[in-house]
Amino acid sequence: MAGVMLPMLSIGEAQERKFNFPHVRPLDASTRTAFFSGMKGSPLFRELVAQLEGSDLIVHVESDCTMRDRVQGKLLFVTAAGGVRYLRVRIGCAVSGIRQVAILGHELRHAVEVADAPWVVDESTMAEEYRRIGFQSRGDTDGSSFESRAAIDAGERILRDLTIGTQ
Ligand SMILES: [Zn+2]
Repeated sequence: MAGVMLPMLSIGEAQERKFNFPHVRPLDASTRTAFFSGMKGSPLFRELVAQLEGSDLIVHVESDCTMRDRVQGKLLFVTAAGGVRYLRVRIGCAVSGIRQVAILGHELRHAVEVADAPWVVDESTMAEEYRRIGFQSRGDTDGSSFESRAAIDAGERILRDLTIGTQ
């Protein structure tokens, strides 16, 4: 078919122009860049964000330079108020590039786990849920950090998506 090719924005570019993800909110330039790299380069990352956009969660994302070397990402339950549950993702500021995006995706998968569990309304119900669906993190010292297979798999898949994208 012959015709005039109209310039089209890729999904990522269009979304970057208008920041319209009210449920996932990167708070600094570094996590914002990671967020848009994930949206552009990874179908799974986009799927996780879409799930969160349809949830009662608001997830703030920020860089954290006080994180111990071994811990690169963390999900915290902040509060539940007015029918909205607030979570916070912290990403160690020592990580960058596609690793940072994969860690962000890993934590967003944890957020989806919370979205799927409406009974999680504070730190202790979140810990209960992870005792049920997850397992104790390696190197956990105070019994309060948990891991899930689904989040590990999500991070690895996002890393693969982005590695393919950069070849
Ligand atoms: Zn995890």
